[in-house]
Amino acid sequence: MGTWYQQDTEEVLNILDTSAMDGLSDEIATNRLEQYGPNELEERGVKSPWLILWEQLTETMVVILIISAVISSILGDLKDAVAILAIVVINTLLGFRQEYQAEKAMAALKKLAVPVVKVRRGGHVLEISSRDLVPGDIVLLEAGNLVPADCRILESVNMRTQEAALTGESEPVSKSSQAQPGKSLPLAERYNMVYMGTLVTYGRGIGVVAETGMRTELGNIAELIQSAAQEPTPLQQRLNRLGKQLAWVALGLVILVFLLGVARGEELRLLFLTAISLAVAAVPEGLPAVVTISLALGARRMLRRQALIRKLPAVEALGSVTVICSDKTGTLTENRMTVTVIDLAEHRIDLSEEETRGYFSENLEPSHSETPGHQQLAYLNENPALTVMLAGSVLCNDAYLEYDENTSQRFHIVGDPTEGALMVAAARMGLRREALEAIMPRVAEAPFDSDRKRMTTLHELKSEQLEGWQETLLELLNLQPENLRLIAFTKGAMDGLLEVSDRVWVQNHIEPLDAGWRKRIEDANERLAMEGVRVLGVASRAVDDQPEGDDVFKLEQGLIFIGLVGMIDPARAEVKQAVQTCKMAGIRPIMITGDHPLTARYIARELEIDIENGVPTGNDLDRMSAQELEETVGKVSVFARVSPEHKLKIVQALQNRGQIAAMTGDGVNDAPALRQADIGVAMGITGTDVSKEASDMVLLDDNFATIVAAVEEGRVIYDNIRKFIKYTFTSNAGEIWVMILAPFLGMPLALLPLQILWINLVTDGLPGLALGIEKAERNTMRRPPYPPNENIFARGVGRDILFIGALMGLLSLGVGFWYWRMGHPTWQTMVFTTLTLSEMGYVLAIRSNRDSLFTIGVFSNWALIGAVILTTLLQIAVVYVPFLQSIFETMALPVRDLGIAMLLSTSLFIVVELQKQLMRRLSPK
Ligand code: ADP
Ligand code: MG
Repeated sequence: MGTWYQQDTEEVLNILDTSAMDGLSDEIATNRLEQYGPNELEERGVKSPWLILWEQLTETMVVILIISAVISSILGDLKDAVAILAIVVINTLLGFRQEYQAEKAMAALKKLAVPVVKVRRGGHVLEISSRDLVPGDIVLLEAGNLVPADCRILESVNMRTQEAALTGESEPVSKSSQAQPGKSLPLAERYNMVYMGTLVTYGRGIGVVAETGMRTELGNIAELIQSAAQEPTPLQQRLNRLGKQLAWVALGLVILVFLLGVARGEELRLLFLTAISLAVAAVPEGLPAVVTISLALGARRMLRRQALIRKLPAVEALGSVTVICSDKTGTLTENRMTVTVIDLAEHRIDLSEEETRGYFSENLEPSHSETPGHQQLAYLNENPALTVMLAGSVLCNDAYLEYDENTSQRFHIVGDPTEGALMVAAARMGLRREALEAIMPRVAEAPFDSDRKRMTTLHELKSEQLEGWQETLLELLNLQPENLRLIAFTKGAMDGLLEVSDRVWVQNHIEPLDAGWRKRIEDANERLAMEGVRVLGVASRAVDDQPEGDDVFKLEQGLIFIGLVGMIDPARAEVKQAVQTCKMAGIRPIMITGDHPLTARYIARELEIDIENGVPTGNDLDRMSAQELEETVGKVSVFARVSPEHKLKIVQALQNRGQIAAMTGDGVNDAPALRQADIGVAMGITGTDVSKEASDMVLLDDNFATIVAAVEEGRVIYDNIRKFIKYTFTSNAGEIWVMILAPFLGMPLALLPLQILWINLVTDGLPGLALGIEKAERNTMRRPPYPPNENIFARGVGRDILFIGALMGLLSLGVGFWYWRMGHPTWQTMVFTTLTLSEMGYVLAIRSNRDSLFTIGVFSNWALIGAVILTTLLQIAVVYVPFLQSIFETMALPVRDLGIAMLLSTSLFIVVELQKQLMRRLSPK
């Protein structure tokens, strides 16, 4: 039905059979979910199994193999053709299975990234997965939300949405609940509807879900929007390029071998197949796939450590991060705020202290507040400033205390922890939202943002119900009763708040906010900040007429300052360790906070984040030139009183200095900084949908330590990919040496095509994959990060490929040459077997780059042990099973010869272990 916008809200609610106040009952919601299905678009981004299969079959190597099979059969060699095809099939199946798994792993991650929405159901506010939304659900939307379904607006408080995804219009559009009857309107002009896939950029509102899933406007055009395919990561791109270069090298080799063979008068058929296999030997075809799989499985491992990867390249970039810029609140601290101090103009109340017991009850049961009357009025008389301030903090607040009847915890906070802390403090005095809003309903608001660092709400005063409040409010606002119409409450960061205040409420009267008072309040603020306390001020004013639209912001001036609230938010215990880990790993942790510099210093000191070089504020940054800024970010590790735009500047400056920066963020305005950062990190619990959309990684537990854990995983994955590269390339090098040198020794073809294929696919593949799950090296987090664009062959990888490859080749060819000269017909089987087995020795030795196999434990990677045993058994089968003998043209080796091949293969193990020992001695830790 495309006419929701034409009907008024009553009708819409009727048609959808729901209630704006209570929402759907759980039962009806469950039924509707069954009827309408989950609220999601059909997946278009995921590769179909057929596409994966097709891609497998069209890989260069597979094509080469298929062509060579065809040519073999034309040349009359059916046996080879069948064997090649069999290997192709097995290889394709294996590759398919792995890639399919990788795809599924990524799809599972995407599912986890589905946003949660606040809905009213059965009279309660719940947070549910947006997949579970059904028509008729009442959703609460606020700045930072992705609109989860097509909704008709029931209430809008300055709500604006960005609808570019649907209409192409990039300016945010204001929303209202007014019906637009009459003619049909294009999407962009339906001001009372919000659509799935658009963003709430400002304000707040309530909507009723009209359409879900594929029936939404976005669903209608889902065919048109091509879900962005995964871009290859930088490493993948580099490997692809390398693969192309190697293909040329292979071509050169092929021509060389071919010419040599022709000159020696070899049989054309054999030459052809040899050339093909040599090409296959040189090109590491499996590499890109292994990298993709390693990254995807790595992403899964990161998830186990609470880091949800949204973009695959992040897995890789994480390993090379050099700075981690983190918000303070919630990431470095627990975000379990507790109000500990209230500082009124004339006195300070420490909530923990004995004497306040009279005011603050531990009893937070809702029943306690149902009969607030007398007690509250007593408080009002006794301490009007305190009562009004807490009442103001409750009214100017979007958090809820939800009471759970059947859990041991009596209530939990829904919403921002800062605001929740205020709700709890007020509840302990018996002040509750329901009771207060009954006499002072909210009529307008200027929402919190991290640039202004404050929020204001406007309330109508129902004069006939005010009772005891009336007197107090008249005093506060300095008004005659007939002028008592509207009151505004503002809460926010102190420095800004004092600038827009001009009076202060002192013991039942108002005084001008003169220099003396300012100093008194600023001192109180600093004293609290120095103790690591997060401070908010509360102020108020009378208002004559209700402002229109954005004019509410103009209410934030000429305020009457009432008092300060201080809340503590302890540093997370595990972060201190994580900060140490960062430092050892050559990564600088940087704290960026909107809080007071002194609060920032306190927490930084606690976590041992550097403050030697000062704690500049956002204002300081604004005064700096680009060059000064770059110098500052080079040495300073704590920034205070910053807004989101400063975050962007800080990342850019860091990047200009060549740093690889991870940056956390949670708000709508953090999105640009998250996009700019090399790794944008969003908060899973407190983050807005918008910030999550802009991020590369989401911290499911909002914890700084999780970023560090993800960095470690990133380094391990990169290390293991490099080990795999070393392994396959060394083996390829070995084969090439054998093939190239044999003619110079006057030997016939030393390895047959099928044998090379066998080595490349089975011998390289199985243990190679098992290398991918090798655990962290001991020094993974004790070394500086590797530069991200460092050559893959750096740090000895290239050297080992050359030398160990040569050794492997010479050893195998040497023993073959010896047997050949002695006239043993098994000489070729010896070359083949020695080469295969020496790879087994090699793979065991390169499990660690530094430590010996016996230090890391022979059995600490069972998959690898299994792969080595299996590969060895398969090799023995190829040598001894008659059927396989005829395919691979092998001969049974006498036990003694098998023993010799095994002995030779251990020499590779020994050489690499000796090399590592030498290295450990030369550069001890
Ligand atoms: P951070 O997340 O880095 O600690 P914020 O940007 O959240 O910093 O907060 C900066 C300041 O804004 C806080 O010190 C506090 O004074 C004020 N503030 C934070 N949350 C709210 C809120 N919900 N309403 C009003 N003011 C707030
Ligand atoms: Mg914050």
